[in-house]
Amino acid sequence: MTDSKNLFTNQASSAWFPLFTNLNNAPVLLIGGDEVAVRKARRLIDAGAKLNVVAAELAPELAQWEKEDRLTWVAKQVGDNTFVGHLLIVVAAAEPEIRDQARRWAQANNILINVVDQQHASTAIVPAVVDRSPLMVAISSGGNAPELARTVRSQIERLVPEHFGPLAQLLGSFKLPIRNRFKGFPERRNFLRWALEGNVAKAVQEGRLDKAKSLIKDALQGKNSHQTGHVSLVGAGPGEPELLTLRALHRIQTADTIVYDGLVDKRILDYARRDALLIDVSKRPGEVRISQEGIHAVLAKHALKGKQVVRLKCGDPMIFGRGGEEVAWLRSQGIDYDVVPGITAASACASYAGFPLTQRGFAQSVRFVTGHCERSIDRLDWQALAQDRQTLAFYMSVGQLAHIESSLLEYGRNPNTPVAIVENGTRVNQRVLVGKLSELTTLAEQHHAQAPAILYVGEVAALAEQGSWFESPIKKVAAASLRVGTA
Ligand code: SAH
Repeated sequence: MTDSKNLFTNQASSAWFPLFTNLNNAPVLLIGGDEVAVRKARRLIDAGAKLNVVAAELAPELAQWEKEDRLTWVAKQVGDNTFVGHLLIVVAAAEPEIRDQARRWAQANNILINVVDQQHASTAIVPAVVDRSPLMVAISSGGNAPELARTVRSQIERLVPEHFGPLAQLLGSFKLPIRNRFKGFPERRNFLRWALEGNVAKAVQEGRLDKAKSLIKDALQGKNSHQTGHVSLVGAGPGEPELLTLRALHRIQTADTIVYDGLVDKRILDYARRDALLIDVSKRPGEVRISQEGIHAVLAKHALKGKQVVRLKCGDPMIFGRGGEEVAWLRSQGIDYDVVPGITAASACASYAGFPLTQRGFAQSVRFVTGHCERSIDRLDWQALAQDRQTLAFYMSVGQLAHIESSLLEYGRNPNTPVAIVENGTRVNQRVLVGKLSELTTLAEQHHAQAPAILYVGEVAALAEQGSWFESPIKKVAAASLRVGTA
């Protein structure tokens, strides 16, 4: 039935059979003692293999492992009996004679052999892995393009969060009780989804295994409902979707309900599940803005129904985003929450306009300032803002430019201080306008500056032109007479 030849004619067959093997205590022979052998040995030892090594010399790591009894240096050269008794042979040595000898022996004895970087000489190949033990993803290009397999691996690395490993282990330890408690599949699926995406997963992610365990135990005893919801305040960043954090992406992908603001880039909403409920709480022209209390009510309604809610805000949720108020309210309602920071507009727009926020000799501090201040409850300390050698980043300032210009000049900031307005930062329609403080209003009027935009005032803004790297397809840079120095 078994055609032993087939094992060695893989060149003709394109299909490799994916197989995970348990090498714990299994005798494995490694031929070679150099750096390549070190890499192989490390993985084999991690897998618990009983590792025998044949090598003329051992690289320092191998020698160390030998001292620690983690491998046995059985011989300096391959001999007649070297191969006997092994389940797998791994050839890391470069000499063709050794490789051929090992291969012939493996063929005659039907033993699996892996010759490093030579798939045609191997009957077993080692995949690139994403290790979230006990969860393991193996990727192989069948030896054709290992670099491609590594690229795919790094993409999967990003998609499979680190905490999936301990989470899988934890759920594994509750396998029986879960089966006993939820006999029907739909019930069990519901419970597992809650555990995988809800508060248990979040507790594991925060490293609070005890909390995760007690949540599961309570749910199994019917003490808490495994229907408890959760709200994540998530920073969506300035626009460009690739500037999302991995955790933000994961939260968005697993949310049942996403409550988002108008400035959130719509491409980011495409990451949501197809069946997720998307609720826009922004002000649209001609419509009445939903009040902060109204937003609180929406969050509560969905969280208390057991939903995983994402409160998605542009930039960072805790910077001019009323995140603090929402957190205080969720806490007062006893609703579980977490906060996922995002890249704030001040930081993203400066980077995308090509200038730093601080720089030796130019600015030793940076302030994030609300431009929405004239009639606000908060008053700005213009005296402090007018000091030189600091960068001011004014959010929500497009309608307040005249006021900002005159106040800073009145309190003595140098009229030649460079300014930059970055409109739609990081997006394809990003525009950067640069000029000097005394011409700020004119600059904005001439170029019809529009929200969303950040206004920067400070010596660093002068670096925008030389540092510019982001070529927005419709970018216009207006450089008004720019002179840095004293008036
Ligand atoms: N939480 C947000 C700020 C919200 S206030 C953050 O951390 O970035 C809204 C203001 O943010 C806008 O008026 C504008 O000043 C700024 N803003 C947000 N996105 C922007 C973008 N892509 N380009 C320029 N400014 C932006």
